Amino acid sequence: MALKYVAEYRDGDLAKKLIQSIHDLKIGKIRLMEVCGTHTMSIFRYGIKGVLPKNITLLSGPGCPVCVTAQKDIDTYIEFAKSDKFIVTTFGDLLKVPGSSSSLQKEKADGADVRIVYSAFDALAIATDNPEKQVLFCAIGFETTIPTIAATLLVAEKQNIPNFSIHSSHKLTPPALAALMQTKGVELDGFLLPGHVSVITGTDAYRSVHEEYNIPSVIAGFEPLDILKGILMLATQSKMKRPALENAYPRAVSDQGNVKAKEIMNQVFEIGNATWRGIGEIPDSGMVLNKKFEKFNACSRFDIDIQDTKEPKGCACGEILMGLKTPEDCKLYAKACTPMNPVGPCMVSSEGSCAAYYKYNR
Ligand code: SF4
Repeated sequence: MALKYVAEYRDGDLAKKLIQSIHDLKIGKIRLMEVCGTHTMSIFRYGIKGVLPKNITLLSGPGCPVCVTAQKDIDTYIEFAKSDKFIVTTFGDLLKVPGSSSSLQKEKADGADVRIVYSAFDALAIATDNPEKQVLFCAIGFETTIPTIAATLLVAEKQNIPNFSIHSSHKLTPPALAALMQTKGVELDGFLLPGHVSVITGTDAYRSVHEEYNIPSVIAGFEPLDILKGILMLATQSKMKRPALENAYPRAVSDQGNVKAKEIMNQVFEIGNATWRGIGEIPDSGMVLNKKFEKFNACSRFDIDIQDTKEPKGCACGEILMGLKTPEDCKLYAKACTPMNPVGPCMVSSEGSCAAYYKYNR
């Protein structure tokens, strides 16, 4: 049955049928990773873990943009905030992330001009309104966000705005999945792939990873029925021993994805290496400014290169992002580390695994 309205994707009777179908599979132990933080939050919000068979373990993955941002990038944003030449503009989630010795929030409290924006276009407007200041935009995010930042830079270029620049910490999803599969100790039986990223990338973007590692992979939306359907499809593939790449979100995701958005993204950025918190450098997993747009690169323009960074002692964010640990395995969880006093980014971000556990699982 084709559903039309959001409320239908939260229908209790349909959910019960899907849950029953999952139980009826009588599956042995499997470990599924919900790659993205939006899935993690939805899974907790709708109590999905509690209705699954005990044999199915759900693990959070590396798809929370704030959580995977490397400490060096956090320290770089903070370094810019320390200069009174700059207005630093950022998505709100980044504000409280602890750097090696400060945070954007602390710098703001000490008088730095740090402003929360809801899009890169807001940041560009701040640059236009403040020609006497340099405006830095903290460019984090995955395939969902990168096209809008690229579109902003196209406008900045066209309007010849001289006081706007970015520091890019963009990440691409499929190379991270390949890196996880190559990591010792990571044992996964399936990927629940992010719906919103896939709207841009299309199903085809995951094909090479799927073919190389032959792991069940299903793209799913974020409503409870979407997630339950995705889990049912993954569990069925696992039970039948027929790994496939399937799309449980066809109302939004096509094979090719959003071709126009990808064109815009590729006008401004090119594929480059990126450093992920906990995972390290993954080749070809980032999007860096191409030659034509290099003038918007804040670090090369203002000669900033942070060398000494240190990650918070005792924080297990890196291992959590790889599915090697859960927040409850971290000794600091809910003791030294809480949403009011976060030690690591996974407790800060609204998509972070530790924040989700803290809010819904205690
Ligand atoms: S609970 Fe805090 S310290 Fe522990 S992994 Fe999560 S964010 Fe890091």
